[in-house]
Amino acid sequence: MGELVSKLARTKSGKVISEEQYIQYVLARIQQKTINDDECWRYTGKKVGKGYGCITYKDVTIRLNRFIAYAFHGMDLESELQANHTQDCKFKDCWRPTHLYVGTQKENVKDQIETGNFHFGSDNLNKPSKYTVHMREQEAAKEVK
Ligand SMILES: [Zn+2]
Repeated sequence: MGELVSKLARTKSGKVISEEQYIQYVLARIQQKTINDDECWRYTGKKVGKGYGCITYKDVTIRLNRFIAYAFHGMDLESELQANHTQDCKFKDCWRPTHLYVGTQKENVKDQIETGNFHFGSDNLNKPSKYTVHMREQEAAKEVK
């Protein structure tokens, strides 16, 4: 169990509750900010980076996906692993537990390449030529095998 998880869980009013109760408490707040979109459960609260949901867990801002992987898939919140979206899921802000799996960044990149959602670098930078992208994808595909 990581440091973050072993911290005392408190409600907004300061009442100390068990970890299980706290998970339910956080989930209830997440549900209030969720809309159903087809099969996906999209978070309408605060977003970071390229549109990933983020929440406050014991006074620390963490990615929503990590919290869901912790609550539903038993991932350690301080793990180097991450919560990746399955290839069927279309939205970065979706947190439906069955649309997330605990995996590595490599697996994440592999999924993105296979679904055509992989983009190198920032959109603000000059885009590499199609040939460069093709070669890089070949390289990335080799790496993730
Ligand atoms: Zn989804």
